[in-house]
Amino acid sequence: MTDKARMVNENQCQMCMPLGGVLAFKGVEGAMPLVHGSQGCSTYMRLASVEHYNEPIDIASSSLNEKQTIHGGEGNLRKALDNVLRIYQPKVLGVVTTCLAETIGEDMQRMIKGYVEGRNLKGVDIIPVNTPSYAGSQSEGFWAATRAIVEYYARPGGKHDGVNVIIPHISPADIREIKRILDLTGIEYTLLPDYSMTLDRPYGGQYTKIAPGGTRTADIARMTGAKATIQFGTTCPEELSPGRYLQQEYGVPLINLPLPIGLENTDRFTEALGQLTGLPVPDTLVIERGWLLDAMADAHKYNAEGRPVIYGEPELVYAFASVCAENGAYPAVVATGTSSSQLTARLRLLLAEADRKSVLLEETDFTAIESAAVSTAANIAIGHSGGKYLTERRGIPVVRMGFPIHDRIGGQRILSAGYAGTLAFLDRFTNALLEQKYASYRQLKREQLLDHISIEGDQ
Ligand code: SF4
Repeated sequence: MTDKARMVNENQCQMCMPLGGVLAFKGVEGAMPLVHGSQGCSTYMRLASVEHYNEPIDIASSSLNEKQTIHGGEGNLRKALDNVLRIYQPKVLGVVTTCLAETIGEDMQRMIKGYVEGRNLKGVDIIPVNTPSYAGSQSEGFWAATRAIVEYYARPGGKHDGVNVIIPHISPADIREIKRILDLTGIEYTLLPDYSMTLDRPYGGQYTKIAPGGTRTADIARMTGAKATIQFGTTCPEELSPGRYLQQEYGVPLINLPLPIGLENTDRFTEALGQLTGLPVPDTLVIERGWLLDAMADAHKYNAEGRPVIYGEPELVYAFASVCAENGAYPAVVATGTSSSQLTARLRLLLAEADRKSVLLEETDFTAIESAAVSTAANIAIGHSGGKYLTERRGIPVVRMGFPIHDRIGGQRILSAGYAGTLAFLDRFTNALLEQKYASYRQLKREQLLDHISIEGDQ
């Protein structure tokens, strides 16, 4: 069941499209994002990012106001570009649009072309991306910017043995885990966008305006000659898919996989790597897989009582629905605020064999999610801080994952990828169920006893 018929959005379950674009640009070395729109848009994006990542995160703005809304914002954009180039000296300047810029019809390609032609710009690439928030969520913004980055740098080059690894919006800890798995196999790779250091900087004493780290642009240019692209984007719309672009334009084979979260999903990743390298799965990963299996056996008797609500960005939601299903905690509700993903179709296949039916919600909000949680007697949730009302109003604990997490610390360090990350998640999930059970079962028993006494008394 979807709730497409509901036209009003109350307490939304997604964040805005340019924010996803900003985060993707943070994964390119030397990049600085600029939001073409009002101050309020970039302030909101800064606030959401800083609260989640606990880092100083600069996001520039062209600061449009009423005047530019009527007369056009090209002058402001030029000033903003001048200032960002002077103050930050970026190698890459990612310009994302907002609802306002798109509504007044700003022609980004023409404006950026005109700006570049009038100057002798060396050592900086300016990449515009259209991200009208009324047309998509942060998830689409992230894919759109990642594809724009690939399209900008892609050029014909020599074939090589490396692989491309393209990720959706996941935590820096998960990026590091995926890189560790890749390193264990010994494969050469380019991971894009890599914000594992830029959005989770180690304390080093020396502050720099642009954080070190990120995918090198020279490596992005070489993605066209790779042996294959592994893209964790089974819910990614075709027209936004960077891997599909590399396949269609440069013939790079695309291996589109779910995120390696869960036993089966991680198996698919390690099997793909095995086929690409011609080597068996490294011993370290075999041991970690064994630990995960052991943990699944330990936890299944508790997880069978779990009826989770899973919400957030489509690719994460799909991965966590898989983990829950393979651990016997059949999802009660699976929901995303995004409208254009393939999530519902993918979930129908995943959950087809389940004996209990799940409520599937796309383009939804927290009012609909809360109501579905109550009607399905859900007893646990997995998602970001937007769902904290499930706990406050309904007593349903939320195991934090995704973005944004602003009511806990460590959102950037939440590890769920790979065998080791799945095991860590499984412990968090099972312990949340147990905590809920032990916090309330004596009270339940007492209420049942009192009911019993009063029924006997009535007789
Ligand atoms: S106005 Fe649009 S772009 Fe700006 S913060 Fe709101 S949703 Fe995002």
